[in-house]
Amino acid sequence: MANPGRLISRFGAEMLIEDSSGEIHRCTGRKKVADAVCGDNVTWEHNAQGNDVVTGIEPRKNLLKRPVSYGRKKNIAANIDQVVIVLGYGMKPNWNMLDHYLVATHALDARPVIICNKLDLADQDNFDRERYLEDYENLGYLVLRCSCSTEQGIPELRNILKDKTNILVGQSGVGKSSIVKVLHPMLDIRIGELSDASGEGQHTTSVAMLYHLPDGGELIDSPGVRDFKPENFERNIIEKGFPEFQQSLGECRFHNCSHVKEPGCRIKERLEKGEILPRRYESYLRLISEQE
Ligand code: GDP
Ligand code: ZN
Repeated sequence: MANPGRLISRFGAEMLIEDSSGEIHRCTGRKKVADAVCGDNVTWEHNAQGNDVVTGIEPRKNLLKRPVSYGRKKNIAANIDQVVIVLGYGMKPNWNMLDHYLVATHALDARPVIICNKLDLADQDNFDRERYLEDYENLGYLVLRCSCSTEQGIPELRNILKDKTNILVGQSGVGKSSIVKVLHPMLDIRIGELSDASGEGQHTTSVAMLYHLPDGGELIDSPGVRDFKPENFERNIIEKGFPEFQQSLGECRFHNCSHVKEPGCRIKERLEKGEILPRRYESYLRLISEQE
């Protein structure tokens, strides 16, 4: 009989499947499920010999991939609802990078949340940060300021993560591991035992793992997920990452306008009128020029 389950982690051929009662089963996979990843909804079958087998993957909402070597991509995780992009007060901000993560999140059809951690260091931050953060709030993004040291904003963060499948991304040093620690996701003790039994214990931390959060919601985490670098995107995907463009797309003279130097470009008109921030437009140009 086929049962529904959730793939919470995978060590090579071995898949850890959580059933609807929360119990974890060590499974192998049929050939057709070879590319199953953390976060996948699957069907699995139990057999009397104890060889539980994953038999199918349910359609995915989305699939996060990471470029590994030229042209090659590795699947990291599936069915992500929210991408939490972490910045840190007191650290030189990279707004282009934030825009790049936003494009990547829109490309997944996931909801982006921007959080600025290390709020306790806000006094020492002289990067004109609030003005920039407000720009993003005005674009409709949820921006949360928090601190792992004082736990300011952490209850709000828990609330935002509730009932959703989340990942944390951002540059190194912004406090992603500290946030994971403060959220204390629950790793079922059995997972540790199971992964040790697979003989790949040392690799555990490099493998994406789905954790339950104490207040509800899930966190898919691994260094590979946290440090994931957004790839180059097609122009229509890049456009989707700029909410301020949306109302005008289709109003340019040329239907395939790239908003770079075409005449009759509505985006550039609005840029000149001050309706689009020059910094955001430059970010767009940069992403377009990085296209392969
Ligand atoms: P990651 O590289 O993004 O995982 O960042 P870490 O979690 O390793 O944090 C980098 C450094 O920032 C560590 O020294 C943390 O102790 C420190 N840190 C993290 N969160 C906060 C915070 O809210 N306030 C302050 N002052 N330091 C923090
Ligand atoms: Zn245009």
